[in-house]
Parts: sequence; C-alpha cells; structure tokens
Amino acid sequence: MPGTGEYDYLVTGGAGFIGSHLCELLLARGAGVLVLDDLSTGTLSNLDGCSGNSRFRFVVGSVLDEALTRGLVNQSRKVVHLAAAVGVENIIRQPVETIETNVKGTENVLMAARPGMTPVFIASTSEVYGKSESVPFREDGDIVLGATSRSRWSYACSKAVDEFLALAYWKDKGLPVVIGRLFNTVGPRQSGRYGMVLPRFIEQALAGRPLTVFGDGRQTRCFSLVYEIVDAIASLVDNPEAVGKVINIGSTQEISIRELAEKVRRISGSGSEITLIPYDEAYPDDFEDMRRRVPDVSLLSSLIGKVPEADIDTIIREILGR
Ligand code: UDP
Repeated sequence: MPGTGEYDYLVTGGAGFIGSHLCELLLARGAGVLVLDDLSTGTLSNLDGCSGNSRFRFVVGSVLDEALTRGLVNQSRKVVHLAAAVGVENIIRQPVETIETNVKGTENVLMAARPGMTPVFIASTSEVYGKSESVPFREDGDIVLGATSRSRWSYACSKAVDEFLALAYWKDKGLPVVIGRLFNTVGPRQSGRYGMVLPRFIEQALAGRPLTVFGDGRQTRCFSLVYEIVDAIASLVDNPEAVGKVINIGSTQEISIRELAEKVRRISGSGSEITLIPYDEAYPDDFEDMRRRVPDVSLLSSLIGKVPEADIDTIIREILGR
C-alpha cells in the first residue's frame, strides 16, 4: 500500500555525517523519522542522539534493495535521499560501487516514491560542476567534466545522472522532487577517513602530525557548517516553490586550502608543520583537482530566505569543541 505515512520522513543514509545531523533536527522539531543505512560509511554511534527517541526507527539495509526501499518509502510522508558513495578517495578506490550505489539507489528511491507521489529530496553535489571555471556556479550553468578514464569524474557523472532521472520523474510523472547540490559541508562527527580535508587537518593538528596540503594549496573551497545545511534541506523538502528545481546549498566564503591549514593550526594551538604534497603522491595517477568551487546561492536565498553564513573560524572552533 503506497503512502501509509506512519513516519514523517525516511532519511536514506541517515547514519552518515549529514544524515545524522538531519535526523536530530527533524526529531527536535517533533517529526517521526525512519532511517535506512547500510553502515558502509555511516556508523551507529552517529545516531546516539536519536536512538532513544520513540519517534525514531533505524533499519540496516541498502537502497540497492528494491523491496526494502519500497517498503520503507511506503511508511513515510517524505523522503530525504542522502545514501551515496562518500569522499573523493573512497570513490577513486571503489569505482564500481560508486556508480551502482549512486545510480541504482536513486532509481530505487524514485521508483518507490512514484505510486504514492511521495515528495523526495535528492542530495546531489557541487562535484557535478566539475572543472567549470564559471565561478560562482549557477545551477543553470554548464558542467565541465574530465575524461571517462579519470575515475574522479564517475562520481560527478553518476550524480548528474541522478539529477536527470529525478527531473525526468518530475517532468514526466509529476513526482515532486527537489534536488540540492551540496558544497563542502563540515562539522562535528565528520570523519577524515574518506579524504575530506578539514577533519583531516584537525586530526593531524591534534596529533601533532604535519598538515598535508595537496598541490600548491592555492585551490579554494567554501566550507559550510552542517547545522545550516540540514536546516536548509529541511526547509526545501517541504517547499512547493522548490519542486522540480536544482538548488545550490553552501556557503560563499571562499578560502584556499593553504589558508585553511594555517587557520586550523592557529585555532587549535598546534605546533604541526604544514607540508605541501604533490598531487601525484597524494592521489592515484588519474586524479584531477578543481581550482575554485564557489556557489551562487541566490536561488537558495529566494526560496528559504537565508543562506549558510557561519564563518570558517567559528566552524573550526565548533569542530574542536572550543
Ligand atoms: N586536500 C588536501 N589535503 C588533504 C585532503 C584534501 O590538501 O589531506 C585538498 C584536496 O586536494 C582538495 C581540497 O583539499 O583540493 C578539498 O578536498 P576534499 O576531498 O575535502 O573535498 P573536494 O575535493 O570534494 O572539494
């Protein structure tokens, strides 16, 4: 039976870094939350703040399991689909799993949502802009990807397919979908294990090890605090104006990776050195990095009336718990 709606939200990937913060927010707002997560990169301990709540239920399993996904979507009024392959290094190491999880998993979620017309938020990524140099990136701008022989681009490409598929479900079948392109999101509980730069720098600084800056360190990113990102996601899932749209979700405060390392060192009071590591030592040989990544957030601002604004010093302090 489609749409029995026992839970307000199904959060796929809810045991992950972003997902677990979203679950906490939704529960704090009084919602009932069902989580589907295969614990491949998420952890049960991420859900410590949720598991005692009677409005919360956790199911271990994969979005690749079509019947399971359908059953859980049917118990939910809205779906936030976050389950995906995580982190550049992880993606380069596991190219087959990346493509399958991202494409087939999203297809299963959309197929399951279609009979009951259950609203779905699809988490996409700023990676889809690829090597575009049209900074700041607008959602309607061209995407520029590298050769298919370079596995980094399989992630961007698989997420772009997710976007095409979700938009097709909206245009062709009327399924209310909202697509968010998440930029570099950071905060407490994020692991450095999958290659992400800020948790790595913090772990390195606290352990007194060198901070490993790849390339010349002049490449830039915009980091936003996870609380602001999950708040934006929660506002968008319910927003009728957002349906059928692709929306950048991120901060516009740009910082070079070298400056980031310096800030982490200063704020943490660490005596660690900063070491420049050439890309060919840092990643397998088919790696390409992007120089700048900055979102245009005017669409986000017009839809929810705010944009992520925590500054990087505040973010680093929050992660350090200071
Ligand atoms: N990076 C770095 N040192 C690390 C990990 C990453 O200098 O230990 C760099 C990486 O090459 C990239 C930037 O930091 O230029 C952001 O990397 P991350 O993997 O966090 O995110 P993404 O590349 O997806 O923006």
